Amino acid sequence: VAAPPPSDLGPAEALRRNEALAANFWELRRRADIYYAYSYIHSYIQEPFTTLLPEHVFNCALFLWNILASSGFSAQPVQALLAQVQGGPEAEAAYLEKVRAEAAQGSAQQSRGHLKEVPLGISRVYILYALAKQAQSLGACRLARTAYDKLQVLRVPPSWQHQIDLACLAIRSKPYSDQDDLLPVCNWCMTTNPLLRSNLDACTNCGHPFIRTFLGFDILPLVEFQPDTDIALEEAQSLIAQEPNARKSQNSDGWHESTRGGAEVMSLSEGPMPGDEAGTDLFVQKMLDAASYFVPGEPYQPVRIDRETLVEL
Ligand SMILES: [Zn+2]
Repeated sequence: VAAPPPSDLGPAEALRRNEALAANFWELRRRADIYYAYSYIHSYIQEPFTTLLPEHVFNCALFLWNILASSGFSAQPVQALLAQVQGGPEAEAAYLEKVRAEAAQGSAQQSRGHLKEVPLGISRVYILYALAKQAQSLGACRLARTAYDKLQVLRVPPSWQHQIDLACLAIRSKPYSDQDDLLPVCNWCMTTNPLLRSNLDACTNCGHPFIRTFLGFDILPLVEFQPDTDIALEEAQSLIAQEPNARKSQNSDGWHESTRGGAEVMSLSEGPMPGDEAGTDLFVQKMLDAASYFVPGEPYQPVRIDRETLVEL
């Protein structure tokens, strides 16, 4: 239920209002994701039995920690986030003022090395404890050691203290490294990322967000793209819906002819193979081109693709 935009807004102010609303939306959505992931951690810790897979708990805890430790994450209450859309113009003005003041204050606080706030009802100790335990059993010893070290400076339930102290000692006998197959690889720039990343769960090299499935919080092999600026939304949608040219021209019996090295070759292909078509090639090409032009440290931009590539999708 959005409040109608105040009528006396100038274009610049209207733009700022829209930006604030969009930022609010992402913040609220992130908050919903966090509470959903946390529900698994909470039941893993609180319930006597768990049916959750170790990887599931590990991914949930890692996702939560990467988001909550990020400087881009703000732990302001949901009511404050909703105030802008649900209140009148005064609420909106007050909200904008507050956000600006908090942003200035927040950066000052972080430079002093304070722990960030977490949203209401979420326990940092639960997340770290689940993360440490699962990391240890999955072979991410370096991560487990970091998590236990962080737990040492937090207040934990007295009944856990002994166990944590023991585990903290035991983990020191393990190699200070993580199992290679646990390290996430960015789907865009193919960089192997560390497990802990305090940049809102994105690639440390190119900034592409890791997109997780809500079924186990695994990372999905997805790459974000944006149609070129001169392509309207409707046109882009109809282009994507179109049958790719390469597939249309293929013979229906599975045989296709080609010339390779001056000789005519006839080959039998067993249906369309994923990753083997001209369509995916065009997108992969665009994606890798964009990744190679990327300058580390620049703000993240999704891959731009043209009409030709959209048709091939
Ligand atoms: Zn990347």
